[in-house]
Formats: sequence, C-alpha cells, structure tokens
Amino acid sequence: MLTSLAFLLAAHSPTQTPAPNLARFVYPLAPSLPCPPVEIDVTDSPESKVWAEQAAALVREWYGPLTQMMATDGRHPVTGQPTGRKFQPPARITLVFKKTLNVPAYCSGGTITINGEWVAQRPDDLGMVIHELSHAIQQYPRNEIDAGWLTEGISDYIRWWRYEPQLHATRGRTVPDFSRAKYTDAYRTTAVWLAFIEQKYDRRLVPTLDHHMRLGKDPMPVFKELTGKTADELWDEFKTEFK
Ligand SMILES: [Zn+2]
Repeated sequence: MLTSLAFLLAAHSPTQTPAPNLARFVYPLAPSLPCPPVEIDVTDSPESKVWAEQAAALVREWYGPLTQMMATDGRHPVTGQPTGRKFQPPARITLVFKKTLNVPAYCSGGTITINGEWVAQRPDDLGMVIHELSHAIQQYPRNEIDAGWLTEGISDYIRWWRYEPQLHATRGRTVPDFSRAKYTDAYRTTAVWLAFIEQKYDRRLVPTLDHHMRLGKDPMPVFKELTGKTADELWDEFKTEFK
C-alpha cells in the first residue's frame, strides 16, 4: 500500500521527466471488418475474366487489412475516443469490367469499374485495385473544404506505402517536380508527402486525417495538431529534405 502510494506521488511529481510520446511511432489499426461478398461482371469484357478472378481474390484478402488502416471503427486514432463515424460496409463489392474506359478504373459506392484494355496491357497493375478498394472503404461525405486531393492522396498512400512499398521504392518511385508540384496535387505527390510527415512526426497521421474526412470535417488542422506545423510549412520542409 505504502509502495504504491509512493509510486503514485512520484508519478505525479512535477519534477518527473514527462513520459516520451511513443504512441506517435506506432501506426494505429482499427479492428478488421469482414469482406462483403465479391462479385465480378465481365459481360462487356469477357477476355478480362482471369484477371477479374485474381482481382476478386485480392479484394477478399485485403479488404480486412484496408479497413484496419483507416479509422473505420469511428475511434479517434490519437485519443481513442468514439468521436467519429463507424464505417458501414456495402452489401457487396462488385468489380465491373468494361472493354475500355478513359481512366484505368473508378469506384462508386461498392462498385469498382475497371478498364479491360488497360489491364490487358498492364496485367501486373493489381495494386490499382487496392487504390480503388480504399475508395470503397472511405465513402467520405462532402467535406467543409475542397479535399478531393486528400481522398486521392490517402488512397495512393494506402497503395504505395502500405500495400506495395517495395514497388514504390524501385520502379514506381515518385519524384515530384518541385518547380510545379504542390501537396494538393493528389495521388502520388500527396501520398509521398504524407509518408514523409508520418515517418518524421507521427504514424497516426493518415488514420487521423481519415477520421476527420469520415465526418466531413476540415482535415487541415490535423497537421498542426500532430506536428506543430501547418501543411504549407510541412510542404516546404518536404521540398528541402526529400531525397
Ligand atoms: Zn482514386
């Protein structure tokens, strides 16, 4: 009894060194959600069938891990408080293959539409399905600010830094053209900048941004809260330190 009292007093003594903030070095994971049934539709592009089946297997395997990488449980990744919005998975995930599209793929609700011509030319681009699947888990409502660049940046971050970082480190490596690039460029430029910040400051960055995005709240204050710096200051830092 006396020992624990002494410990308590010591722990609360103002002369004690504050505990180091170690939680910032750990990427927080939400509980995994089960994957809804995955269906494929190759009516318009029957030659995509083999690729489609591989993509469906990828979705079934990675759906759970992707739900863990975002704040799908509605808990704030820093405080652990249920201040957010719980993600409700769709009834099914459908992969629709079209003969051709003017983009490689896009996601709307639980439906991912994929360009058959693109995957015939780039059969190794299964990572693209991870990008689209992350959109199916984001389902962000309209935001207070124009944050579409961040939605795309988070999806590319999930793909290039959490799913296939080894590919990013080699032939997929992003080297922004700093004469023109900005963190609002979306996709890989935003992704590589987010990765730089989380590695330097706080691994909870992306899930915390996701938490705000799920509420439709302006995510920009998160940068200052977790790093003490604004997004503009962090971009300048990235430009100087990026190798
Ligand atoms: Zn996208």
